[in-house]
Amino acid sequence: MTDFLIANDARKILHVDLDAFYAQVEMRDNPELRTKALIISRDPEETGGHGVVATANYIARNLGIHSAMRAAEAKRLAPNGVFLTPNFSKYKIVSQQIHEIFHNFTDKVEPVAFDEAYLDITDLNQPSAQIAAEIRHEILRATRLTSSIGVSHNKLLAKLGSEFNKPNGVTVITPENMLLFLDELSIGEFRGVGKKTREKFEALDIENGAQLRVMSYEKLRGLFGKMGENLYWQARGVHFGEVKWQRQQQSIGKEETFDQMLHREFDIQEEFKKLAVSMIKTMRTRHLVGRTLNIKIRDANFVTTTRATTHEKPWPLSEEAFVQNAQVIFDELIEAPFSIRLLGMSMSNLQSSAFEEMTLF
Ligand SMILES: [Mg+2]
Repeated sequence: MTDFLIANDARKILHVDLDAFYAQVEMRDNPELRTKALIISRDPEETGGHGVVATANYIARNLGIHSAMRAAEAKRLAPNGVFLTPNFSKYKIVSQQIHEIFHNFTDKVEPVAFDEAYLDITDLNQPSAQIAAEIRHEILRATRLTSSIGVSHNKLLAKLGSEFNKPNGVTVITPENMLLFLDELSIGEFRGVGKKTREKFEALDIENGAQLRVMSYEKLRGLFGKMGENLYWQARGVHFGEVKWQRQQQSIGKEETFDQMLHREFDIQEEFKKLAVSMIKTMRTRHLVGRTLNIKIRDANFVTTTRATTHEKPWPLSEEAFVQNAQVIFDELIEAPFSIRLLGMSMSNLQSSAFEEMTLF
């Protein structure tokens, strides 16, 4: 069964990940930092010991510092390290450059983070490794930053591959070398294995992928539930998750024509609410946010008015905000008594919400 599944997966998937992204951007902009332990976090001395590390350069990592570590702990490990408050607006600009490069190769891009994405390049004719090399070259040329790429036939192996050869490397995992690769992987490197799971495996003397693959499905499920089932397949390099990409869309939203024309403020507000709820739902499902809210109103004489409100940042997905904006526009344009035959609400200037949803610790 396993062999069948492996042979059947003819996709070409890349996982692209910049190396120590925030730290690399700061070192690029201030080369003096290259020789120092650089920790992207507010200085715990200024925050009274609060805060966590967003990322750190490789000098700091060699001292044992890592993302999500308490800043105070990082300070103990690197008393002479440089602590820099993250400059997210700067990283975001670089992030947009990188994601534009991805889209020059394919539209099938699933953004994972500012500096990280899956690409499905199955439709492209060139060899995957060549495309990976070109993407890395383009990123370096445009941003002067290095990245690592995992190349394989599914997202799991692509992700494991990009982690394997970090920093500044490419790893190609094929159906032929995949089991060898997984054999050597330590248990903690499999997806979703946290400290607790790792300790359980240690107690069982299971340390790597080869030993994991010997364990039966029933045994893994009994010990770890869903996670155990998942690990059973991971050990075999099987993963069917698709690269979740969106066709570029101009706008999301809709308009409603009323059989009975609306005359009351209350009904107008109720209709705007319905439109907002439906629009938010679609945007959530498609992981999109937008900068421009468009309101459309048509009266009994077929006079149609539209108004767009564009923000510098995407609108929050808030029913109240949308309805309030619509109501203000309505009150500006329409005088009572009124007869309204159509209302519309839509969002344009769309972008992926992956950037907005990211939790920055
Ligand atoms: Mg990264």
